[in-house]
Amino acid sequence: MLLYSTENSILQFIDNENFTNRNIRLFVKRDDLIDLEVSGNKWRKLKFNIEQVKVLKKEGVLTFGGAFSNHLVATATACFKAGIKSVGIVRGEELNEYSNETLIRCSQMGMYLKFVSREEYRLKNDKLYHSELSDEFKNHYIVPEGGANFYGMVGCQEIINEIDIQYDSVFVAQGTTTTSCGILLSLPDHTKLHLVPVLKGFDSHTEMRNLLNYSFFDEEMTEELLAKTVVHSDYHFGGYANYNSDLIQFIQKFSKTYQIPLDQVYTGKAMYALFSEVEKGNLDNQTIVFVHTGGIQGAKFLEEKEGIILNQF
Ligand SMILES: *Cc1c(COP(=O)(O)O)cnc(C)c1O
Repeated sequence: MLLYSTENSILQFIDNENFTNRNIRLFVKRDDLIDLEVSGNKWRKLKFNIEQVKVLKKEGVLTFGGAFSNHLVATATACFKAGIKSVGIVRGEELNEYSNETLIRCSQMGMYLKFVSREEYRLKNDKLYHSELSDEFKNHYIVPEGGANFYGMVGCQEIINEIDIQYDSVFVAQGTTTTSCGILLSLPDHTKLHLVPVLKGFDSHTEMRNLLNYSFFDEEMTEELLAKTVVHSDYHFGGYANYNSDLIQFIQKFSKTYQIPLDQVYTGKAMYALFSEVEKGNLDNQTIVFVHTGGIQGAKFLEEKEGIILNQF
């Protein structure tokens, strides 16, 4: 089922004098161009999950998210387009379907929103809770928060399979690790995967180990894969959705120069990390692919709430 074509996701060369002087070539894999709302990796992660809905003859998808979740909007929109139902379990009993643009959009796309306490939300991966939800929302296929499951990972393998140049390193922002694990599974030999976790104190390898082992039950393979990764844990800017003026200025300058939008939650931090590592001389003589995971909603939110415009071109 092809709801969104990934044809638009081009590989764009970044022309930068400093990079050229260091014999570095940088390309951006523009998954942000797949779709505005079902952006980037969110569609990659949903694709095979939505296919499962059809295979298992379910009526719709039930999933989980916070008040500003890119994943919730993406799920609502993709399900609407696929002609199936969607249910969102939202963290925060004080919220309603008019609380913000994300939630308004979700309900416009026909998603039924159930607002639960933080306590209840913590049960999001609990089997018993899932069976309770299945009683309430009959015949729905349950997708974890952030699309973080086997099918989500498999969908992200396609990102790498679409790249037809030779390269030494890949850079990507990391949330649940689903995208990075998918990329890692398809990564060519002798290539490094550079991870930029956007959460503070995030244990990348433990999280990836869990997802990979749970999916393949092959610990040896998991360790071999993890050996190909480099974790850059110092670019979270204080934690999820945190930022400072340094990051804002970097994004503004980058987007203006290269006409590529970034957000302050994910891709801005990852690109900032890449440029900093270049400055430190850690990437000389390399061809690098930056996977642009999309998610420009974060930037729009900043514009609406704080009046800070990140992307102007
Ligand atoms: C959700 C999201 C991520 C995180 O991806 P994971 O698969 O959860 O690691 C990265 N970038 C953007 C733009 C996102 O919206």
